[in-house]
Amino acid sequence: AKWLGLESEQKYNGFGVSACAVCDGFFFKGQDVAIVGAGDTAAEEATYLAKLCNKVHMLVRRDEFRASKAMQNRVLNTPNIEIHYNTDTKEILGNGKNVTGILVSNNKTGEEKTIDVSGFFVAIGHNPNTEIFKGWLDMDETGYLITKSDSTKTNIEGVFACGDAQDKLWRQAITAAGTGCMAALEAERYLAAKEDH
Ligand SMILES: Cc1cc2nc3c(=O)[nH]c(=O)nc-3n(C[C@H](O)[C@H](O)[C@H](O)COP(=O)(O)OP(=O)(O)OC[C@H]3O[C@@H](n4cnc5c(N)ncnc54)[C@H](O)[C@@H]3O)c2cc1C
Repeated sequence: AKWLGLESEQKYNGFGVSACAVCDGFFFKGQDVAIVGAGDTAAEEATYLAKLCNKVHMLVRRDEFRASKAMQNRVLNTPNIEIHYNTDTKEILGNGKNVTGILVSNNKTGEEKTIDVSGFFVAIGHNPNTEIFKGWLDMDETGYLITKSDSTKTNIEGVFACGDAQDKLWRQAITAAGTGCMAALEAERYLAAKEDH
C-alpha cells in the first residue's frame, strides 16, 4: 500500500492504522474511524466501513473527489460518512498503544483540528512490487503484470503471473490463492506439453 509517510502512521500501523478496510474494518465495529483518499477504492472502502462503524470521517485533500460519479453519490448518500474537503492529515494521535485520534489541517485556511477516532484507514493506492520485471513482462501504467484473458500467462512463454502482482482489483488472500493455483496448473500443463515433444 502507499502510505502518507508520517512517522506516527508507521508507529500505529496494525494498532489502529490500516491500509485495508475489508481486512481490518471488523475490528472497529461500532466505533468512529477516518479514511484518507478520494478515488474509487477510498469511496468503496468508506461505504464498507460505514456499514460497520458508528461514523466515518473521510479526508479528501482537494475540494472534490477523484472517484467516479456513481461512487461519489454512494458516499454522499451515506448518512454516517462526514466528508472533510481540503484536508491534510498532519499526525496520527495515540496513547502509545492504540490510535485515539488524528490531527488534520485545512490546506486552504490552515486551520487545524483533532478528530477522535480509533481507526485510521489509508486508501491512496498501491504499488505492486514488480519493478524487477520492467522491460521484460508487460505491465500496466501502475506496474500490475498483465496476463492473458482467463489465464495467468504473461507475454513471455513459460512465465505465469498470479496474486497481488497481477490483480489491481481484489488483492485478497483468497483471490491470490486462486490465481496461484491457476498459475501452478498452467505451469504444470506447460511443462507436460514440453515433455510430450
Ligand atoms: C495488513 C494486511 C492485512 C490483510 N488482511 C487480509 C485479510 O484479512 N483477508 C484477505 O483475504 N487478504 C488480506 N490481505 C491481503 C493478502 O495478504 C494478499 O492479498 C495476499 O497476501 C497476496 O498474496 P501474494 O502471494 O500475491 O503476495 P504476497 O503475500 O505479498 O507474497 C509475495 C511474496 O513475494 C516475495 N518477494 C517479493 N519480491 C521478491 C523477489 N524479488 N524475489 C523473491 N521473492 C520476492 C515477498 O517477500 C512475499 O513473500 C491483507 C494484506 C495486508 C498487507
